[in-house]
Amino acid sequence: MKLSLRGVGKSYSGRRGETNALSPLDMDVREGEFISLVGPSGCGKSTLLHIVAGLEPPTAGTVDLDGERVRGPGAELGLMFQQQTLFPWLSVRENVRFPLTLAHRRSRGGAGDAGRQAAQVEGLLRLVGLWDFRDSYPAELSGGMQQRAALARALVGQPEVLLMDEPFGALDAQTREEMQELLLHLIQRHRITTLFVTHDVDEALLLSDRVVVFSERPGRVLASLDVTFTRAARSSELKLDEAFLHQKREILALLRGRPRTATQRDRLLLGLTNTRTEGGS
Ligand code: ADP
Repeated sequence: MKLSLRGVGKSYSGRRGETNALSPLDMDVREGEFISLVGPSGCGKSTLLHIVAGLEPPTAGTVDLDGERVRGPGAELGLMFQQQTLFPWLSVRENVRFPLTLAHRRSRGGAGDAGRQAAQVEGLLRLVGLWDFRDSYPAELSGGMQQRAALARALVGQPEVLLMDEPFGALDAQTREEMQELLLHLIQRHRITTLFVTHDVDEALLLSDRVVVFSERPGRVLASLDVTFTRAARSSELKLDEAFLHQKREILALLRGRPRTATQRDRLLLGLTNTRTEGGS
């Protein structure tokens, strides 16, 4: 499914007046494309994702999915957030099955659906490596395992569009890398149109076809960069590749508000400039 945003902007009004969260922007996401949104904290990335998800109305502009206006949350979208969003009183298997149960009730599906759903849930639990923990409860799982379950739940309805808001932001570095590898594996198998918010430039470059860089609030698009590494080349090793590091520096310079000149770039390549602050917003 392709996604088309036209003039989408948002301001919040609260007790302390108006907060202009997002400047009106246009964006097209091709079918099967994986786009990362990076930018400083508070620049409106989550707001944009919530608008696309139909969870928050824009104050300006329109969002279309394959030409249909988005007016509220729909089954064609899979959502995943940073915070733990599993239901603590449901087992892992019940959590993953939950969206299907809801859809089943809405469509008053017959008993024949139950077997198909069980097989689908089992397939996903095996894919994310949680089949042996299917009867555990969220509190019994590590943070990484909880996010694996959340990923399985986001995928169980076979969404056409996946919206992910810093899904690995709360994980330790090693678990985060494991989740990135898992997501890469999934992307290679099922090309799902994806919008992925992250403050981690490495993660954005590793996973995406395109990285969209936002300015400070109210967020506006500073740059949209194609990431052309082949899917087969994508693994944690790629993060050490010179072309990868080059693109990373380019994005970091944009995030710092200092697009680099050729001389600065040369200094960086020669390792003459301190890059310790690299790591995100
Ligand atoms: P990001 O995801 O880039 O960190 P957000 O989209 O969460 O940014 O927030 C953008 C701006 O909008 C921030 O200044 C934030 O405080 C404000 N904001 C977000 N949600 C609300 C809300 N529900 N009500 C009022 N202001 C909000």
